[in-house]
Amino acid sequence: MGATTTAEVGIPTRAAARQYYQREFETLPRERLAALQLERLRGTVRNCHEHVPLHRARLDAAGCGPGDIASLADVEHLPFTQKTDLRDHYPFGLFARPIEELVRLHASSGTTGKPTVVGYTRNDIDTWSDLMARSLAAAGARRGDVVHNAYGYGLFTGGLGAHYGVERLGAVVVPMSGGSTERQIALIVDFGARVLCATPSYALAIAEMAEQQGVDLRASALEIGMFGAEPWSDAMRAEVESRLGIKAIDVYGLSEIMGPGVACECSCQSGLHGWEDHFLFEIIDPDTGRPVPEGKAGELVITTLTKEALPMLRYRTRDITRITTAPCDCGRTHLRILRITGRNDDMLIIRGVNVYPSQVEAVLVGQPGVAPHYQLVVERRGSLDHVTVEAEAQPGVDAAAYDAIAHQVAHHIKSLVGITTDVIVKKPGEIPRSQGKAVRVRDLRKKGV
Ligand SMILES: [Zn+2]
Repeated sequence: MGATTTAEVGIPTRAAARQYYQREFETLPRERLAALQLERLRGTVRNCHEHVPLHRARLDAAGCGPGDIASLADVEHLPFTQKTDLRDHYPFGLFARPIEELVRLHASSGTTGKPTVVGYTRNDIDTWSDLMARSLAAAGARRGDVVHNAYGYGLFTGGLGAHYGVERLGAVVVPMSGGSTERQIALIVDFGARVLCATPSYALAIAEMAEQQGVDLRASALEIGMFGAEPWSDAMRAEVESRLGIKAIDVYGLSEIMGPGVACECSCQSGLHGWEDHFLFEIIDPDTGRPVPEGKAGELVITTLTKEALPMLRYRTRDITRITTAPCDCGRTHLRILRITGRNDDMLIIRGVNVYPSQVEAVLVGQPGVAPHYQLVVERRGSLDHVTVEAEAQPGVDAAAYDAIAHQVAHHIKSLVGITTDVIVKKPGEIPRSQGKAVRVRDLRKKGV
């Protein structure tokens, strides 16, 4: 057989990237997009001022009301909102609508303290469904596709968010949720799923289990992965793409803003289109709170423009990234959020060097003899922080070679990331597999160890 082109195996091409769900909005000229944003921003400030006491008090203190927004740049004068505000006003204190006007609640797992609760009116769910359908179409999904949804269902927004988007697009959703990995594989094959929605780490766990069972998912109908809910590296993308035989698309969202579908890559895979008719995106310096110029890295801050139940003013996402408004080959005019390096909260400062787990991941993936499963264990030794990288050998690698592999990996991390680590190579299967968001860091410092 000769060389197989991507078109022959049905992997989405740039032409496919031009399949829109809401063409009129997705390709709106940027001046018209800005005018729409300004009008909607005033509406959000009005909604917050009239209906949410916390926002009203802060807007008044800042001397900034709905009538003071003359241009989009004035967003800079609005107060920030943080995750702690939701916790401090648990459960419904930031809602701008009475509970009886809502149709759904979601909540975070709340590993520390109270969970954060988010609410939706019927219009909010409608918008969310549209934006997730837009995202799926941008990724290359089409009407009639079978979409295997392995995001967790329940209070987490991932499962139901994707679910409603698939139905809205006119595709067929398989509401699988996480877990039962063997069964997932059987249904992906039997139902002919073309699209897989999952966290990237769980997609990898599915690929691994399929390989162990002798099932070649590359020969299945799968062509597209919609992966999100955790930061991941381009090295991990290449790994998942080759092991599943798919194009892996990054999708972004957070429940405080809406859920999945706030932004999504098109099949050009050159950054996530943030849906600007519904959200205003800014990048700020996380230390000073001041805006940074386009293209420079900083913290992503999002203001909702159409949310009714839970309008959000300048929400600090803690995600560190860059944005560009340069035109994209797909024809969509909405800005692109470049790949998210990591969360500010996940950033480790090891002897003065800022490190994200995804940087270590990028080194590990593709190292000979090493499987792409890992955890970073951070502890205090004397007055210094120390990182141990727990990696895993690929099946079939002689245990006698583990030490040499560990030495090699430590050397690469030192030269590419700039930190000294101990590396332990474990036997295949010894690193816990995620069925949702992967746990990449075990920080023993917080327990006073
Ligand atoms: Zn694009």
